[in-house]
Amino acid sequence: MKITIIGAGLLGVTSAYFLAKDGHEVEVLDREKGPALETSFANAGMLTPSMADPWNAPGILTTLLTSLFSSHSSFKLRPKALPSLVSWGLSFLNNSRKKLYYKNLHRSADLACYSMDVLKGLNEDLKIEYGHITTGSIKIFRDQESMDKLVELSKHLDAHDMSFEPLTGDALLKVEPSLVQVADKICGGVYFPGDHAGNAYQFTCEMEKQAKKLGVKFRYGISVTALCRAGTKISKLKTSEGELTSDLFILSAGSYSSLLAKTAGLNVPIRPAKGYSLTIPLNGWNHGPRMSLIDDGFHAAITPLGNVLRVAGTAEFAGYDRSLTKDRLDNLYNLLDEIYPDFKPYIERDKVTEWAGLRPLSPDGSPFIGKTSIDNLYLNTGHGPLGWTMAAGSAKMLSDIISGSKPVLKESAYNIKRA
Ligand SMILES: Cc1cc2nc3c(=O)[nH]c(=O)nc-3n(C[C@H](O)[C@H](O)[C@H](O)COP(=O)(O)OP(=O)(O)OC[C@H]3O[C@@H](n4cnc5c(N)ncnc54)[C@H](O)[C@@H]3O)c2cc1C
Repeated sequence: MKITIIGAGLLGVTSAYFLAKDGHEVEVLDREKGPALETSFANAGMLTPSMADPWNAPGILTTLLTSLFSSHSSFKLRPKALPSLVSWGLSFLNNSRKKLYYKNLHRSADLACYSMDVLKGLNEDLKIEYGHITTGSIKIFRDQESMDKLVELSKHLDAHDMSFEPLTGDALLKVEPSLVQVADKICGGVYFPGDHAGNAYQFTCEMEKQAKKLGVKFRYGISVTALCRAGTKISKLKTSEGELTSDLFILSAGSYSSLLAKTAGLNVPIRPAKGYSLTIPLNGWNHGPRMSLIDDGFHAAITPLGNVLRVAGTAEFAGYDRSLTKDRLDNLYNLLDEIYPDFKPYIERDKVTEWAGLRPLSPDGSPFIGKTSIDNLYLNTGHGPLGWTMAAGSAKMLSDIISGSKPVLKESAYNIKRA
């Protein structure tokens, strides 16, 4: 069976690998010049099942409304994005009700944990290099109330065998000695020893090579403009290179999946949540973190990725606008300055890569994986802020569904029908 995947980001490339391994003929189309050049390019690098809690926690409405009047809040709602958010936004707010919020948290945690198992298998089988570190992650807090809240929330992760340790003072510094520079400004941290990190761009490039070895064809510089429907099937794709046919199509086009699905009359509720990152060469500085450090107040993270430091975060609803906004980038520079003041003299601004990407966010925080109401159209998209963490597991799950094997996780939980 010939399978065509739209999108060569984390999700499209890992899906291609598993499908080819299952014996399918696979082709991947992407408008960019290579793999992972959009949202999968410079994310925070965290492999963190511990962060499976959806963004729309109870109280999110107040946070978003306040953000309309603040340039420095970690969440930002731009008025120009409001018209495109009406029905999606209502569903997003509906999912912030306590009962749904916890249901969504457990669904995402199941997939994130499963994905870590699948990634472990890939590491063992393929021995690929992508700066993988297994030192855990740590969330730091400036006030006790916020720290207590996270400890309460983290108790829900017990059900997924995720351990965590609230730490203060010397115990915290023992786990992450670099925090000595900010010790007097924070009240403590919560350490998640099971979390990992790694460079998602490098990983996707390595997986592309592995997929090619299995016969997958990657075609870059092709823009898909429409999915043409004939009855209950997709008959062909309209692209910048003419029309293309296939037996089965997979939509893994990140935030653009909803726009493409619409051309076939299918509603895939995903909206872009823009985030920013800085990639800063260490330049000889060696007092940085040994694991991902998440500043809960700033909604941002600092991750060591080999000889660079990745600072990433903030969430902005600004439609499909990928331009860099100065105040959002300043937030990241300020965070770094506050936590690692002694790094400043080592930073050469002209060597910093400033970047923005669009997280494909579903209203309940979990992705859409598997069949749709169109017979030969499948999805692997909508992974929001956890697409790196969930990539390997989602791809394996999709491949199992298409190949007729029983997926490890419940198929219906991730199907688009739940939307
Ligand atoms: C600032 C930031 C920090 C993040 N940090 C983390 C983190 O620490 N951990 C984590 O787990 N996740 C993180 N994420 C989320 C993660 O990066 C995303 O969930 C993931 O990259 C989504 O991958 P994707 O393959 O779905 O989308 P993409 O990487 O965007 O891939 C989609 C591909 O489809 C192609 N495409 C789109 N439309 C078309 C078209 N019409 N024709 C042809 N090709 C098309 C694009 O060119 C693109 O290559 C972060 C995201 C951001 C923005």
